[in-house]
Amino acid sequence: MISETIHQINASLPVMTKLIAVSKTQGMDKIMEAYEAGQRDFGENKVQELVAKYEALPKDIRWHMIGHLQSNKVKYIAPFVHLIHGVDSIKLLQEIDKQGQKIGRKIPCLLQFHIAQEESKFGFLMEEANVFLTPKVLDSLNNIQLCGVMGMATFTDNTTQIRQEFKALASTFKTLKQHHFSSVESFQEISMGMSDDYPIAVEEGSTFIRVGSKIFGDRR
Ligand SMILES: *Cc1c(COP(=O)(O)O)cnc(C)c1O
Repeated sequence: MISETIHQINASLPVMTKLIAVSKTQGMDKIMEAYEAGQRDFGENKVQELVAKYEALPKDIRWHMIGHLQSNKVKYIAPFVHLIHGVDSIKLLQEIDKQGQKIGRKIPCLLQFHIAQEESKFGFLMEEANVFLTPKVLDSLNNIQLCGVMGMATFTDNTTQIRQEFKALASTFKTLKQHHFSSVESFQEISMGMSDDYPIAVEEGSTFIRVGSKIFGDRR
């Protein structure tokens, strides 16, 4: 089942869009089933779980930290994390930069934007992006590789609203690319879309979809 779903999703994606299998709360056996099917990008949202799975599982897995990340936990994932999706404050950016410097690594990050009409979702406000991304701030982050943006749509059945939110994120990406990152080749990713809404996200230009329950079944 897991392998079938992965192949089916991949077959439906344009070449620019990559699938991240969100394996949070799932056991190693299920992750290995996905791995055997050729899946290499996996997403986790808790540092402790991410570290444990990194240590136990094959080293060619690319681990994505997709959850809210506390500054004091950055050091545990800094050496190996493939991409941190949920960077939602300057303080966190600076801490990731500091940890990157310690280990001599430029850590790939996405800026998370608040696109949903829900209080609970983290992220920068889209209108503030141009304010905090000053040349001074960007130049100080020598050990961060900014790769793009991430967002989560509102949990709703209203597909018009979801599409609007994804459009807004894609538009924010475009503005940032033009104003701050036109010469930064790595700044090219838009992480949006989950099990229930990824087809819409793909239509709106997603380059990373984060799909959990559709692949692995309901979480414990
Ligand atoms: C859990 C999670 C997902 C995957 O959700 P599903 O609905 O199971 O596909 C995607 N992104 C983030 C940030 C998550 O926390």
